[in-house]
Amino acid sequence: MDPALGPPEAMAEKRDELTPMMRQYHDLCARYDDAIVLFQVGDFYETFCGAAERTARLLEVALTSREDSTGEYPMSGIPIDNAESYIEELLEAGYRVAVADQIEEPGESPGVVERAVTRVITPGTLTEDELLAGDDNNFVAAIARGAGTEGDTAEIALALLDVSTGDFLATSSSSCEAIADEVSRFDPAEAVVGPDAPTDLLPENCMVTPYDETAFDRDRAGAKLSAYFRNPDALLASDAEIRACGALLSYAEYVRGGAHEGERGETADKAETEGDAPDDEDHHLEYLTHLTRYDPREYLLLDAVALRSLELFEPRTVHGRDDATLVGVLDETASALGGRKLRDWLRRPLLEPDRIEARLDAVEELMGAVQTRERLHELLRDVYDLERLIGRISRERANARDLRSLRDTLAVVPEVREELADADCGRLRRLHDALDPLADVRELIDDAVVADPPIEITEGGVIAEGYDADLDDLRGTARDGKQWIDDLEERERERTGIDSLKVGYNSVHGYYIEVTNPNLESVPENYQRRQTLKNSERFVTPELKEREDEIVGAEERADEREYELFCEVRREVAAEVERVQRLAEALATLDALVSLATAAAQYDYCRPEIIERGGGADSDGRVLEIEGGRHPVVERTQESFVPNDADFTDDRRLAVITGPNMSGKSTYMRQVAQIVLLAQVGSFVPASAARLTPVDRIFTRVGASDDIAGGRSTFMVEMDELATILREADENALVLLDEVGRGTSTADGMAIAQAITEHLHDRVGATTLFATHHHPLTELADDLAAAFTLHFEVEQVDGEVVFHHEIAPGAATGSYGVEVATAAGVPDSVVDRARELVAAADADTEPGDEATDTATASSDAPAAETAAATADGGDVPTDVAAELRALDLAHLTPVEALTELDRLKRLLEE
Ligand code: ADP
Ligand code: MG
Repeated sequence: MDPALGPPEAMAEKRDELTPMMRQYHDLCARYDDAIVLFQVGDFYETFCGAAERTARLLEVALTSREDSTGEYPMSGIPIDNAESYIEELLEAGYRVAVADQIEEPGESPGVVERAVTRVITPGTLTEDELLAGDDNNFVAAIARGAGTEGDTAEIALALLDVSTGDFLATSSSSCEAIADEVSRFDPAEAVVGPDAPTDLLPENCMVTPYDETAFDRDRAGAKLSAYFRNPDALLASDAEIRACGALLSYAEYVRGGAHEGERGETADKAETEGDAPDDEDHHLEYLTHLTRYDPREYLLLDAVALRSLELFEPRTVHGRDDATLVGVLDETASALGGRKLRDWLRRPLLEPDRIEARLDAVEELMGAVQTRERLHELLRDVYDLERLIGRISRERANARDLRSLRDTLAVVPEVREELADADCGRLRRLHDALDPLADVRELIDDAVVADPPIEITEGGVIAEGYDADLDDLRGTARDGKQWIDDLEERERERTGIDSLKVGYNSVHGYYIEVTNPNLESVPENYQRRQTLKNSERFVTPELKEREDEIVGAEERADEREYELFCEVRREVAAEVERVQRLAEALATLDALVSLATAAAQYDYCRPEIIERGGGADSDGRVLEIEGGRHPVVERTQESFVPNDADFTDDRRLAVITGPNMSGKSTYMRQVAQIVLLAQVGSFVPASAARLTPVDRIFTRVGASDDIAGGRSTFMVEMDELATILREADENALVLLDEVGRGTSTADGMAIAQAITEHLHDRVGATTLFATHHHPLTELADDLAAAFTLHFEVEQVDGEVVFHHEIAPGAATGSYGVEVATAAGVPDSVVDRARELVAAADADTEPGDEATDTATASSDAPAAETAAATADGGDVPTDVAAELRALDLAHLTPVEALTELDRLKRLLEE
């Protein structure tokens, strides 16, 4: 906890002496001691003491002070009107914010104005539209560890909740890494952790919130879940999951705050006595209606490294354009709902061919039906964010405009349905049937709420004429009264004979009759003087006063009645939460499918053929066949892109890819993986043809990504990631290795690369693409039955390198590093000198060169030499070679691997 949070020391010492207001502040700080308490004083949210100093500095607002009988306190305030942007900054700086609103009008009751925390705002539990990205979820996670029954490893459960949309998921695994992978997939902004939760699996950008241990109690969590879902024990797989989900629900209720409105004082009264006992019924979040339990193994597994290197959501380079991502290329969604759905699909590609085909069928149909697709896209643009709307409606935070937005969305539904009326494929037909236009809800809103309501819901003008007889009466009374007054001027002029007599209104004195000084003697008896002006007098009559009271009374009661009615309508709509959510789900899915179809049409993608493993007619093995494949992201940023093929089977499963720098190796490998991934998402793919069996995991080790910030050497990171691959990959995985073994000496790097290649080939059996500058690996590939070589050829024209970006069988002939340097504009003198050195080095390593002694071969001799030595086993002492071969890399930690290497090296040097 931040030491500046919690009750200010200066106040804590003398709590009992504080003024009532400061005592209130002190107590709220004590109750919400992990947050900055924003304390409403009139039009401002104030903070005091340490918190004031902090917010003043952070938000660049003035630091003032407040003095009362008990002392002087630093103070700093932000205007309520503009609070969201300040709150956003506080969140970004890593704080939670508790908003303490005045829950009664000043003067309503004796003593200090009552205040209560109406909401706690934390990065993971945002519901404010201003603070949320529309097209992505914002998750808060909870992690709990299971007890671990006999013979069973302790389980770790992960629960994920998007408070703004109601998306609620749970999973568990006995492997910490598997849970870490799921965390990377969903990238929660915040994680609520229990007493024994492993927090080290959380990424740095995730706020860790230690939370009430008892909420993680098996029984309490179970009870909490039962309040939401009928049979949580059947829904969830383990105690750990129940504890994570139950605790997360408690937390979601807690951040909802004591009073859920802040609209009117009365709703908040209860909040005062509640304290922070979050079990109160009133905190119940009705819109959390579904909880999805899933097994990480149901989806294509992508760990943090793969998500990054395949550019799913983040550009690979820091300076990369935001749209230089897979989602950037594919996202043609029209609504926020669809945007989130598409991201969820990309995050969790499928494994089962049937499910993949169902999506592909829909994409194909929509792609072909151009008009329908375009029309659907148009219609879907008018779809509001239903999930968040119904969330707000359910939390009683929606205003009349929100209800109208819901109504406007519902109005689109029949047309969307119509477009799908002739749909062929099952998926689209089911969507058609799921599109419930909620005619009753639409009618209710149409009848009840005016077309263009004001933002405020307590000041009238919200409820439509004819909806409620009482309201119409009140409005009638007010209207009649006003009409009576409008006519009064005419009547009184006639009665008094004063032609200049005027009836007017001002906010202090109300209605009056104004008579100019020359006419004062004609004033009738029942006029009562109210105000004397320079040239005239203002009067009222008892009748006028009576009418006026009637009007004001009727208007006040009408406003109250309207608010009552509005809340009623809102509750009625809220009762339909599940139907609205089902509709939202259908619209989201449709939007995502239309988006995939649009991208496919726009970029000329093809439908991949998904082949069930073990179910193929010709062979039972794996297939990964791509004709004319392209990199979906690079081809968008490039004037022309050269398509390339790929062809992998059980007998050709490991490709060693060589070629000079910049020839296209990395691009090629990533495009192969992205095509596989897209296919499993149910998307068309950037190729002219593709056939493949789904893979269940993609591993990547692409490029030399530094982790200097994390304090680990590049080599260490590399070995760490490699260790994971070697430990966890199997024949259903797709493995990309790009320039592995660079972070150490050539000989070590070569040795590691070779050992890895052999291991992947012999024991793992994964489909592997290995780009390497270690040319001897290509020779190794010739010796391994299921390995083969690919290379990128470049041409030298007039001493300059021309890249064709065309992949071909076989190994590359040279590295062309020097030529690339020329192309890059390195001065001629440097290039010439480099050429000399290369020539000399080549001479040194001519076959048959006698100069090799083991010591140099192992440390800094060129790679070819070592490889030659290793390949025939000649110059490496047999004991060392044997030890190398026996090395079980799959069961070594990175540190052990390093130690082992170091030992072997020493053996060679002896
Ligand atoms: P390598 O990994 O061999 O060093 P890259 O894959 O990083 O090479 O490719 C270098 C650059 O070449 C890419 O940034 C891209 O601009 C271009 N490139 C790669 N492949 C292709 C291709 N198939 N068609 C057109 N340009 C390509
Ligand atoms: Mg590369």
